[in-house]
Amino acid sequence: MKHISLLGATGSVGTQTLDVIREHPESFKLVAFSSGKNLELTRKIISEFKPSLVSVFEKKDCDTLKAEFPNTKIMFGQEGLVEVAVFDKAEVLVNAVLGSVGLYPTLQAIEARKTIAIANKETLVTAGHLVMEAAKKNNVSILPVDSEHSAIYQCLQGEREKNIDRLIITASGGSFRDLSRDDLKHVTVEDALKHPNWSMGAKITIDSATMMNKGLEVIEAFWLFGLPYDKIDVLLHKESIIHSMVEFHDSSVLAQLGTPDMKVPIQYALTYPDRLPLQSSERLNLAKIGKLHFQDMDLERFRCLHFAIEAGKAGGTLPTVLNAANEVAVSRFLKGEISFLQIEELIESALNNHRSITNPSLAIIQEVDQETRKNASTLL
Ligand code: NDP
Ligand code: MG
Repeated sequence: MKHISLLGATGSVGTQTLDVIREHPESFKLVAFSSGKNLELTRKIISEFKPSLVSVFEKKDCDTLKAEFPNTKIMFGQEGLVEVAVFDKAEVLVNAVLGSVGLYPTLQAIEARKTIAIANKETLVTAGHLVMEAAKKNNVSILPVDSEHSAIYQCLQGEREKNIDRLIITASGGSFRDLSRDDLKHVTVEDALKHPNWSMGAKITIDSATMMNKGLEVIEAFWLFGLPYDKIDVLLHKESIIHSMVEFHDSSVLAQLGTPDMKVPIQYALTYPDRLPLQSSERLNLAKIGKLHFQDMDLERFRCLHFAIEAGKAGGTLPTVLNAANEVAVSRFLKGEISFLQIEELIESALNNHRSITNPSLAIIQEVDQETRKNASTLL
């Protein structure tokens, strides 16, 4: 029996993690979780899973829940996120919270020697060096949940690092893959939220449309697998059946395939190195699919991918700025404050205005993150 604490239980990855736990009550138990502002779903999760500890975003919701669930410890805010992340009855932390708010709880969970199943890519983008250093020092495993990274991780099982030539991350292309830059001037929030293959939270769906998601994934892969940027390629593959690939020196390529279903990589991170059946996931029928398509990435068309790769290569505090500016830009786009193409304008201007600091400490990362957010909320 694995005892699990879960950050972001009310989100897209969070609720699918609950589906996996629900399917295997003999293998997994949810002992602690955090949510944000979705009080209704938080109540349902407490009633069903009866965890010992819960954390919500705001104090008022915390007080409400305390009155309703006197036998559950209820906390709130950053302190609550950290308590869930380090909860002593859990061996594994699934981090499915959104944004770089996940960084500090992740570092604390590593210090507390929890195995980390990480979906929260912004944490690795903003401070991958701190996360990986801490994991190494504490001998803690960081298991990828993001489908591309899970695919690569699966392809690497039993392989030696010295034999790897390059990683090939596949990209569906998001909601606007077939539009020209001219067409992009007039797209709406509603259009952007229609992802062709995956059903996900709002922020990552917009990140997929701008292709920033793939950029964040390249940086995520750099930290998780330790290959240089010129050995991490992105390939447009619109069916999202091949989740990613690894090419070896002898020119052999291994790929991991499956229907687009996040429950598969979530469960793999929870059962690794073992596997369990997953009845609720649809089996792949290649004969029915018939054809798979591939295309080179166009970095002119998808400028956010270009910004991310450059920020990743430059390192220092640039990835922190990239991530914070993107979080603000996407949130402003979702609120109707800026247009779709202004997302990349805002990020570009934040990057251009920043003087990077090399090998930043946690305190510097947090400062740069806050400063970028403050500036980005009034830019344009
Ligand atoms: P969602 O927006 O669906 O869920 C986010 C979760 O985090 C919710 O539980 C939300 O609470 C909570 N939350 C948001 N902001 C805060 C905050 N400031 N403090 C505390 N809790 C907060 O996101 P996704 O599930 O789509 O994505 C989560 C992470 O996983 C992201 O990093 C994303 O890039 C990554 N990922 C997602 C995939 C997907 O398929 N969705 C695939 C691969 C990676 P509430 O809703 O209660 O307010
Ligand atoms: Mg992904």
